[in-house]
Amino acid sequence: MYDSIVIGSGIAGSVIARELAERMNQKVLVLEQREHIGGNCYDEYDVHGVLIHTYGPHIFHTNRQRVYEYLSRFTKWYDYSHEVVANVHGTYIPVPFNLNSLYQVYGSEKGAVLEEKLTACYGAGARVSIMELKENQDPEIQEVADYVYENVFLHYTMKQWGQTPDEIDLSVMSRVPVLISRDNRYFQDTWQGMPLHGYTKMFEEMLSHPLIEVKTSKKAESVLQFQDGQVLLEGQPFDGNVIYTGPVDELFHFWYGKLPYRTLHFQFEHFEEDKVQTHGVINYTVDQEYTRITEFKHLTGQKVSGTTIVKEYPDAYTGEEGQIPYYAILNEENKALYEKYATMLSQYKNVHLLGRLAEYQYYNIDAMVEKALELADKIEGEKKGVK
Ligand code: UDP
Repeated sequence: MYDSIVIGSGIAGSVIARELAERMNQKVLVLEQREHIGGNCYDEYDVHGVLIHTYGPHIFHTNRQRVYEYLSRFTKWYDYSHEVVANVHGTYIPVPFNLNSLYQVYGSEKGAVLEEKLTACYGAGARVSIMELKENQDPEIQEVADYVYENVFLHYTMKQWGQTPDEIDLSVMSRVPVLISRDNRYFQDTWQGMPLHGYTKMFEEMLSHPLIEVKTSKKAESVLQFQDGQVLLEGQPFDGNVIYTGPVDELFHFWYGKLPYRTLHFQFEHFEEDKVQTHGVINYTVDQEYTRITEFKHLTGQKVSGTTIVKEYPDAYTGEEGQIPYYAILNEENKALYEKYATMLSQYKNVHLLGRLAEYQYYNIDAMVEKALELADKIEGEKKGVK
């Protein structure tokens, strides 16, 4: 009855479902355990009529033309360039830490000396990771590195990961560089913005195809079993494609043990004022238990009376009912554990792991869309007998 089954309707699941249906004329069943589609990109109007991101702020940005053009088939864009400031003991400095932040912290005279040194060392416009900056032997650059490490990265990272920046994967720390420029934007990508009518609408458009059937509030394990190298759909062998986007350890009932994740708790608050923050996101990098506060109206450009914000409280993921695994914790040990599960899965023909959870990766939206498109290319290629 179905050619392919997709488990999960987040970015990975929605894109691959659309591609299998549209490009390969496949009949696709999408199983979604939540009551709604869109995964963690899901947005909705709260009781005050403010469009919020239920699972924390998601801001689209990309240099990948294919991805931008692909998503543009399903949405128009609200032209939003994300800017973030860090609250450092009551003063607000641009993050990523850049030359504007530098002058704010050191004043014009010392700022000018430091700018010259940083530019001579790394080049105008460079993106330098804090770990790289910390290795610089120049005492004045070291002073800047120490300041940024202490006031931007250390406490935020301790809250977010429960570990210091030195302990976590370099790729994670490099996501937010030190910028040798006056560009206050959080991302420097060519295309950035928000789906004009929200993410949920964009995913609805994507999944709206005559060959796609979506079942929400449907746990995959209620219809699908993985047994001795054979996938069973309602007890019968199923040899079509299965694209699994959930946590891979769950799929095998934690056979090798649990894969560690970080979770988040969100606290939403509403105010009668038009806006309560100067920026879409303010990072709390030296104090507070939450890492950041997002005010959605900045992101979405929505014109509505009143405003809603959300505070993010990170925590260890225990797997208890209702908790969501948001971030894989990338280190050698965890990656090795993941590989064991991936190897276990490789005995199942036509089953593919796709997504942040299924691949145990830290994907941005655009990277995820690209991965899903590439998997579709691969499946299409195999179908045509192309290696
Ligand atoms: N980070 C930090 N201070 C900041 C912003 C980011 O220490 O003000 C670190 C922190 O470890 C965080 C990582 O950089 O987890 C990546 O930040 P990003 O904003 O990309 O995280 P995301 O939005 O994906 O949660």
